[in-house]
Amino acid sequence: PRPIEQLNAALTEASTQRAGVKVKDAVVHWFKWDLRTRDNRALAQASEMAQQAGVPLIGLYIVSPQDFEAHLTAPIRVDFTLRTLKVLREDLAKLDIPLWIETVEKRTMVPGRIADLMEGWGANHLFANMEYEVDELRREAKIARLFASRGLALHLAHDTCVVPPGRLTSGSGKQYAVYTPWFRAWIRHVHENPELLELSEPPAKNPSSARQRYAALFDCDVPLAPESKRLTPEEEKRFRPLWPAGEHEAEKRLQKFCNGDIGGYDKHRNIPSTPSTSNLSVHFASGTLSARTAVRTARDSNNTKRLDGGHSGIQTWISEVAWRDFYKHVLVHWPYVCMNKPFKPEYSNIEWSYNQDHFKAWTEGKTGYPIVDAAMRQLRGMGWMHNRCRMIVASFLSKDLLIDWRMGERFFMEHLVDGDFASNNGGWGFAASVGVDPQPYFRVFNPLLQSEKFDPEGEYIRAWVPELRGVVGKAVHDPYARGAGKVAAKAGYPRAVVEHKGARERALAAYKRGIESG
Ligand code: FAD
Repeated sequence: PRPIEQLNAALTEASTQRAGVKVKDAVVHWFKWDLRTRDNRALAQASEMAQQAGVPLIGLYIVSPQDFEAHLTAPIRVDFTLRTLKVLREDLAKLDIPLWIETVEKRTMVPGRIADLMEGWGANHLFANMEYEVDELRREAKIARLFASRGLALHLAHDTCVVPPGRLTSGSGKQYAVYTPWFRAWIRHVHENPELLELSEPPAKNPSSARQRYAALFDCDVPLAPESKRLTPEEEKRFRPLWPAGEHEAEKRLQKFCNGDIGGYDKHRNIPSTPSTSNLSVHFASGTLSARTAVRTARDSNNTKRLDGGHSGIQTWISEVAWRDFYKHVLVHWPYVCMNKPFKPEYSNIEWSYNQDHFKAWTEGKTGYPIVDAAMRQLRGMGWMHNRCRMIVASFLSKDLLIDWRMGERFFMEHLVDGDFASNNGGWGFAASVGVDPQPYFRVFNPLLQSEKFDPEGEYIRAWVPELRGVVGKAVHDPYARGAGKVAAKAGYPRAVVEHKGARERALAAYKRGIESG
């Protein structure tokens, strides 16, 4: 059975026992990647139960450094999370709700530690939002069983996607493996079920006795990042102003975008030198913004109540937010795609190159392909990369360099502020042609044409590759072939590590051989 089915079975087994658990002294909400008070399904349900029983609500955040290691969480993402926790703690404190933050050594300790804490607090109901990654689903199944054996109740809510995974199937009852029909079904489903876009209430204020009864919990501080995930002082200075943390920042950014750039999103979203996209991915990934709130706000700024009507910029943006849902649905239905396996088994036999010099050149933005190098330097410089460029560099790594896409997928997770397992895996699967609804393998991006089309004046390249600032005009796309070799060489810009035409042919042959023998 799939991990989601294991979890559902554990929840069903526990359901009779759970129904009999009476509320004691408090109700607990377990925060994960849902670090916000507004429009948070499980938090609203926890608050409602606490209010009805007249007991306080307690917030819990529990983390094991092993989780950060296992999920390759980038230091910039850890830093963003810890800063967000500070904001969340302050917001909750204004409602007399404590946020208890605990670090445990090993991730296997999490279920038992949650149960112990709850018993210590006199709480026997735990609310949390579902996370759809394999480890998390398995962990929650363990918690459901453990709780049943200890007389505690676990309540899980669907929150992170607009449409919960598993709801959309084709006419023949199958899961969609292609985005376009899936998206049509997604739109239809949201229109037919308007409650999916209803926002949840923020939590109510705790009874004033909470401050006394749980005084120690209000004293809890946000921990430091584990040593291996700590930013250097220089990185802190560079990254923190770029990524102000917390749900209020998400709200501000969303409002600004929906009142401005969303209008030209369909026209400009592929141009990396313009700030034409929302830059909200870090907030979606951390749960400082719900997808519901985002889609609803975008829809409300349109002149129609439909998600597929009205302004084309708004429609296009909503369809991009839906890609996030799509990849989470894929992860739940085909969990093996996120376990280092291609979607179609015949893609398992491609012979990848493990050329370390090429990989290093790619990671450092020194491939000699200006658009690729600008993008990789943007990743290191900001912890973020424009979507068009993510596709270009992923295609370049997996096809021009024929390097195992999993190395790129991993490198992205280790550096992205918005690193999200499902979307990252989906993006790499698309670009390397090994995923669900991928780019056909014989479609190999030409980095020079991509550069000329999406960065025609070379503004993006010059912004991120200082060696090429002195190169005039279109030569910036390919300095050594277009008469600017001297300037480029003098500034120390490298020559191309591979020649595209030959590399393309090598890739096509390797893919074909792999698929045919698979
Ligand atoms: P906008 O263009 O404003 O889009 C709004 C939101 O829609 C995004 O914030 C994101 O949540 C969602 N979205 C947009 N495009 C996609 C997409 N193709 N797939 C899934 N969701 C999408 N996105 C991540 O959030 N985390 C990742 O780790 C990640 N890795 C990627 C790796 C590769 C190789 C590729 C090709 C794409 C990846 N993406 C990832 C998707 C996309 O590049 C980013 O979501 C987007 O660039 C974020 O910028 P934005 O918030 O300004 O996006």
